[in-house]
Amino acid sequence: VIAIRARRLITCDPSRASSENPLSAIEDGVVALDGGRVVYVGKASAYEGAANYTEASLVTPGLIDAHTHAAWMGSRHGEYVQRLEGVQYTDIAKAGGGIQASQRSIAEASEAEIAETLHARLKRMQRLGVTTVEVKSGYGLLPELELKQLRAIARVRALKNLPRIVPSALLLHAVPASYKDRREDYVRLMCETCVPLVAKEQLAEYVDAYVDAHAFSVSEAEQLCTSARAHALKIRLHIGQFSDIGASALAVKFGADSVDHLEHLSASGARELAAASVHACLLPIASFTLAQAPPDIENLRRAGVRMVVASDANPGTAPSESLPLAMAFAARLYGLRVSEIVLGVTRNAGSSLGLAHESETRGLLTVGARADLVLWNLDHEASLIQPWGTSQVAQIVQDGVFV
Ligand SMILES: [Zn+2]
Repeated sequence: VIAIRARRLITCDPSRASSENPLSAIEDGVVALDGGRVVYVGKASAYEGAANYTEASLVTPGLIDAHTHAAWMGSRHGEYVQRLEGVQYTDIAKAGGGIQASQRSIAEASEAEIAETLHARLKRMQRLGVTTVEVKSGYGLLPELELKQLRAIARVRALKNLPRIVPSALLLHAVPASYKDRREDYVRLMCETCVPLVAKEQLAEYVDAYVDAHAFSVSEAEQLCTSARAHALKIRLHIGQFSDIGASALAVKFGADSVDHLEHLSASGARELAAASVHACLLPIASFTLAQAPPDIENLRRAGVRMVVASDANPGTAPSESLPLAMAFAARLYGLRVSEIVLGVTRNAGSSLGLAHESETRGLLTVGARADLVLWNLDHEASLIQPWGTSQVAQIVQDGVFV
């Protein structure tokens, strides 16, 4: 048994929460771990185990980054310079940059090279306090390249002492150049050929699509969702980044776990998401990089949508690996409250990834949950959302082991 005694222990346990204590913090708390699971959470004074504690100031659940494209290869720094000079993201994409450029990097790399790059990236993320990462494919565009990227993700997923990976197959991201004039054929190929292959090899838990005015339509995404459901794959969607084309109704219809971006979302759309328990995943690094106005947070809040904050780590619109940076931007640029941000990278992020069931609960510290937690060199969770630019982590526990 490992026992950690914290001056302030953030549990995120909803059964302990109140309006004055939304994160269920315990002053002078102990969390005890055994066999990769939490076996005690509570006041130090009530703990009856051996008192050879690891001491910490602030302890939280391990952070969960619920939206990343972390298996990318190459660099798109040239495009960022173009954007700084005023060129639009959509024009860069039309000129063969953007996702097409990342596809070339995936095509040139071997599966082992993609795995090695992802492994190194996840280790850097872990040092920032992240213990679970959703990792999407989506830079292969063609079935064989999507499968290569997903197999590389699966290789890293099998390794120990790294953040837990939740893999998503992002199968409608952009139409590849080779299908430029055969859009319908491309959508059919991804839905009818690629989804079954992904399911057969168990390469992903989720299927994802980029649904927006310049990306894929609601009816194209619907074909993908239908195929995903037929193959017992869960659904998360990119929606509302540049315009609201009504994709929230699609997410509700198919019981998606999460819709992500949401710079553009109607009030009725927000209410529908809340009623259907679809999480709203906010990606402030992307809207910062693109110099976009923030989503209407009050709209989401009023509707009661469960909010998630993620890095969107990708080489184009969010060239960062830092979930803490996303948290800082969520506070300063989006106006989220500290408690909303902390829940958005712990409990809500976990439930948005299906990690809220008895055999695998992540993102909160309750008896039986997976023992992922962070010991911080900080006194209070309000310090977590300051833009440090460096890691403030003292120690990480991943699946019950100090890493
Ligand atoms: Zn994304």
